Amino acid sequence: MSNEQNRAEVDKRRTFAIISHPDAGKTTITEKVLLYGEAIQKAGTIKGKKSGQHAKSDWMEMEKQRGISVTTSVMQFPYGDSLVNLLDTPGHADFSEDTYRTLTAVDSCLMVIDAAKGVEERTIKLMDVTRLRDTPILTFMNKLDRDVRDPVELMDEVEEVLKIACAPITWPIGMGKQFQGVYHLLRDEVILYQSGQGHTIQDTRTIKGLDNPELDEAIGHYAQDLREEIELVQGASHEFDLDAFLKGELTPVYFGTALGNFGVDHMLDGLVEWAPTPQPRETDKRLVEPTDEGFSGFVFKIQANMDPQHRDRVAFLRIVSGRYRQGMKARHVRIGKDVRFSDALTFMAGDRDHAEDAWPGDIIGLHNHGTIQLGDTFTAGEDMKFTGIPNFAPELFRRIQLKDPLKAKQLHKGLIQLSEEGAVQVFRPLNNNDLIVGAVGVLQFDVVVSRLKTEYKVDAAYEPINVATARWIHCDDPKTLEQFQNKAQENLAWDGSDHLTYIAPTMVNLQLAQERHPDVTFRKTREH
Ligand code: GDP
Repeated sequence: MSNEQNRAEVDKRRTFAIISHPDAGKTTITEKVLLYGEAIQKAGTIKGKKSGQHAKSDWMEMEKQRGISVTTSVMQFPYGDSLVNLLDTPGHADFSEDTYRTLTAVDSCLMVIDAAKGVEERTIKLMDVTRLRDTPILTFMNKLDRDVRDPVELMDEVEEVLKIACAPITWPIGMGKQFQGVYHLLRDEVILYQSGQGHTIQDTRTIKGLDNPELDEAIGHYAQDLREEIELVQGASHEFDLDAFLKGELTPVYFGTALGNFGVDHMLDGLVEWAPTPQPRETDKRLVEPTDEGFSGFVFKIQANMDPQHRDRVAFLRIVSGRYRQGMKARHVRIGKDVRFSDALTFMAGDRDHAEDAWPGDIIGLHNHGTIQLGDTFTAGEDMKFTGIPNFAPELFRRIQLKDPLKAKQLHKGLIQLSEEGAVQVFRPLNNNDLIVGAVGVLQFDVVVSRLKTEYKVDAAYEPINVATARWIHCDDPKTLEQFQNKAQENLAWDGSDHLTYIAPTMVNLQLAQERHPDVTFRKTREH
């Protein structure tokens, strides 16, 4: 492999995910984004790939039939000269820890906001997670075809609540039934909106220059309003600053309607121009650059029952460096063995086929019969481990109870394995025999009971338990730790990997414990 080829493949790629509150329009935007991808594919910009349309629609059909998608799928599509990987983040009832973890495997995020509603609760949580890596964020204010809130007010809210500066790249002209289009501040052009073109790529009319008399002809009094508004906006808002964007301190903001398929392309233009190419990653030994020659990657998600016919699990691996080739060997670092990737799934341009090559920024799916865990590293032989793929403190807790007490061993084994996979977290209190299951999304509980039944032949049910949150305990001084263990025993538990965890019945209790034990660290995430 030549280094130039590697560099070129890396430079082409953008790997991102969408963060949003349910119903803000994530699914609709994803559809439109793929529409652009397919159109470009059809137009032949990306050559030499067989059309994957069939495979993809079958795949989506399958997900639809199952109701809520329990999977996080990966979509690759071409845009301009770039190849974009979009990692889907489970959002509604299927919201789970995987949603959080996916955000640690991308290089940038698109934040979608329902412009009628503004910043909502789920978005705040997800933004928090992106801060672990200071991931660059683009923002799309959606649903401008409805009566939405004042754009200045929306940006103020984002700045205040999410603590990120906003730099408008486009500015809306009117809204709802009167939505006329947007003014692109950097290109100095107005792009006019026409309703009823949601299913196709819009045939847009562009008018160059704010002072262009054509503008007055096209949108009447909106033209003069726009000129005055833009003057104010330019004075009062941040200018786009690439550096600040890359540090996650400033977000470029776009306005449009995903349903009307207007504005999504402006955002995509920004994404391929500014969003980072696949980034280097830290290991316990060294920093791995995407252009390093040897293959390496880490597992950020394990998906069970992806194909209902085969009860296998798929481990999603993000490639950090080198090149993946079908049939290649790689070192499974944790177990110290070389394994052959004979039937990995790739997600080339929407095709869930067996594909030949994949590069840094791409995701591959490894079939897994229990040997791969969350956070596992694969390399070309080097003994190192990627860091930064954490467990997140659960927000929901239940006590799990067996129907048949003789199955305690199986239950235990099943729960530990499911927790290694990231399906759920399990805690065993120090001073009683309870088994507490913790999750970020409610569906995780159902998935676990149903998998315990089919895979481990264990009938279990949940009971409510009074737990508000959990924190992983860290303390370098063994003596302080021991004292803490004695004092706080009734709130302590071991997690699935035998890490000491503080189980707090209320947030106030947690706060008090933290104040009482300043030498002990209470962590919201735990590394694998
Ligand atoms: P998700 O939950 O974030 O994936 O949101 P969806 O994409 O499923 O959208 C939620 C609802 O909002 C659906 O009924 C969409 O048709 C609707 N929707 C999405 N984008 C727009 C938009 O730009 N304008 C309007 N009026 N509705 C939209």
